[in-house]
Amino acid sequence: MISYDIIEHGKPLQKVIKETPKPQGTEVLVRVTRSGVCHSDLHIWDGYFDLGGGKRFYVKERGCVPPFTMGHEPFGVVEALGPRAKGIKVGQKRLIFPWIGCGRCPVCKDGHDNYCLQQRFLGVMKPGAYSTHLLVPHPKYLVDASGVDEAFASTLACSGITAYSAINKIPKLNPRDWVAVLGCGGLGLVAVSILKAKGIRNVIACDVDEAKLASAKKLGAKKTLDTRAPGAAQRLQELAGGYLAAAIDFVGMPATHAVAYPALRKGGRYILCGLFGGEITLPMPPIAQRAVAVMGSYVGNLQELKEVVALAKRKKLKPTPVTTRPAGEVNAILEDLKAGRVLGRVVLDLEHAVA
Ligand SMILES: [Zn+2]
Ligand SMILES: [Zn+2]
Repeated sequence: MISYDIIEHGKPLQKVIKETPKPQGTEVLVRVTRSGVCHSDLHIWDGYFDLGGGKRFYVKERGCVPPFTMGHEPFGVVEALGPRAKGIKVGQKRLIFPWIGCGRCPVCKDGHDNYCLQQRFLGVMKPGAYSTHLLVPHPKYLVDASGVDEAFASTLACSGITAYSAINKIPKLNPRDWVAVLGCGGLGLVAVSILKAKGIRNVIACDVDEAKLASAKKLGAKKTLDTRAPGAAQRLQELAGGYLAAAIDFVGMPATHAVAYPALRKGGRYILCGLFGGEITLPMPPIAQRAVAVMGSYVGNLQELKEVVALAKRKKLKPTPVTTRPAGEVNAILEDLKAGRVLGRVVLDLEHAVA
């Protein structure tokens, strides 16, 4: 098998050829054909997340120690089955749920693998999909996405599920309510698309890039806001007519919080997904008086992935811009992503990777 690995954090990934693993027990070996490149891979590549105030969280503390294979948006073909892997056949094409927990604790048994304390996330703690082959611990993590374009389907494993799960955390909306989406990169655009598919029309897309705002508008955002404008928080409140019920922040930096949070109506929710980094300080009494919530949302569970795939299958999701590029270009792709030159998502083609 071929994989593109972090050998040293922040340095170009290297092509590595190693022995293809044999699935044991309930494991399934998947030959990866497509693998989305996510913005959070940039942080894993760097080796840390910025916690603000000069503090960092190092990914080695959760088991991501080089040499390491990233990639948590895997799509592929079942190539081999462990002796106890049931309900799946060799040759079937499947999307892989990467947010895998221990599978045994009460949280996992409840279907919330993504909240498990012994996570085995593919491409985050366990080898991921920047690779021609991938071991999945159990067939239940394979999702049938037949009829959906394979490259777009792969992006549902992170950007799709993350946007979907964040949208599930929006409070009950009244007809005057609005929802703001901050950051119209891969995640923000798919969120606009999912909101539309769920019948939520009052959407304000926010970004600092005109092209990204235009894309959001095409996907169904009723209004857009260039957050570089002075008084952006007040402007957002005005655009929502004072009824901003939720703001989903896919950037996650003090500047985006400063636009979204003050603009919320009473009872509104600031839902934080983006991992750009930094820290915020909030006066406490208004949190109670405005009955607002600051909550996080991190990826999603298997059921949510199945639901977002079902939306895509019913053609309810307008596909976001997806570009497929050869896996060998992975370093250039990461650089493009870092420099903000990517519209929507880039997906690696591993089907044609050559040694
Ligand atoms: Zn991701
Ligand atoms: Zn668990």
